[in-house]
Amino acid sequence: MTDIYGILGFPVGHSRSPAMHNSAFSALGIDAMYVPFAVPPERLPAAIASIRPLNLRGMNVTLPHKTNVIPLLDRVEPDALAIGAVNTLFIENDKLVGMNTDAPGLTRSLIDAGLRLQDARVTVIGAGGAARASVIGLARAGASRISVTARRNHEAERLVSELAAAAAPAVLRVEGWERAAHRRCLCETDLLIQATSATLDDGPAAAALAEALPLDALPDAATVVDLVYKPRLTSVLKLARDLNKQTVDGLGMLLFQGAIAFEKWTGQTAPIKVMRAALDAP
Ligand code: NDP
Repeated sequence: MTDIYGILGFPVGHSRSPAMHNSAFSALGIDAMYVPFAVPPERLPAAIASIRPLNLRGMNVTLPHKTNVIPLLDRVEPDALAIGAVNTLFIENDKLVGMNTDAPGLTRSLIDAGLRLQDARVTVIGAGGAARASVIGLARAGASRISVTARRNHEAERLVSELAAAAAPAVLRVEGWERAAHRRCLCETDLLIQATSATLDDGPAAAALAEALPLDALPDAATVVDLVYKPRLTSVLKLARDLNKQTVDGLGMLLFQGAIAFEKWTGQTAPIKVMRAALDAP
């Protein structure tokens, strides 16, 4: 019988996960199908309750459900609890368990790009869900210091106070949002992670953010990462390239968060090339 996997979101029609996972199932000859489920917030509890009775084998969870799903699960892995977001569900001993594959997805994508994360000095821009996943992922991968800067300083402070214990032994700190503070901080940064939604769709906010960041202060060997993947070459990455910095776009994180979920569900090594090609397709 065909196994059913899927993604719960609202809206969910834009998701590229069905193409990525279905191509992986077909490449490995697995009799399974991955389906998008548009679930409005008020129906999330009923949707979650139906996963086991319908024998759905594994699910992804996307906006706006990543946080609200937590109290509906039997168990949540510690890093997902610290991040405050679950993006992958699996069944273990008849219990519905939530995990966050965004955090290890980011670090696997950076290692895949040839970066060394051990002892890295990191700066994360933004204080939302993607920033929280980045902090935990990079702390687990051995970053020594992670500075967080956000346009609303109190949000950066909240992130740091909530994640400091989980991120140890990495040291978390808040950096100011003013240009002078950015310049000071970037001088001592090996890896800059753009984790805001400002660069999405290359609008005026994207240009303003690129303008506000003194990327020329980064050391020569620093790498600039933008988690946004639409467009792939964001204004921040363009600026970094103009300054001859190594850059990594957000498609790799999307790919590897999916690969980690796939491996959890199927117990098989994810066919990365096939999954990447599915994401690259127009
Ligand atoms: P959230 O809404 O949780 O957080 C967005 C963050 O961006 C907030 O800190 C927000 O600040 C900040 N922000 C928004 N606009 C601006 C601006 N103009 N200038 C400065 N800061 C701004 O979103 P997520 O953290 O979930 O996602 C952020 C981005 O990361 C998304 O656009 C998404 O595409 C990308 N992403 C990519 C993934 C991947 O697999 N590659 C996975 C997850 C996310 P404030 O609170 O002040 O509004």
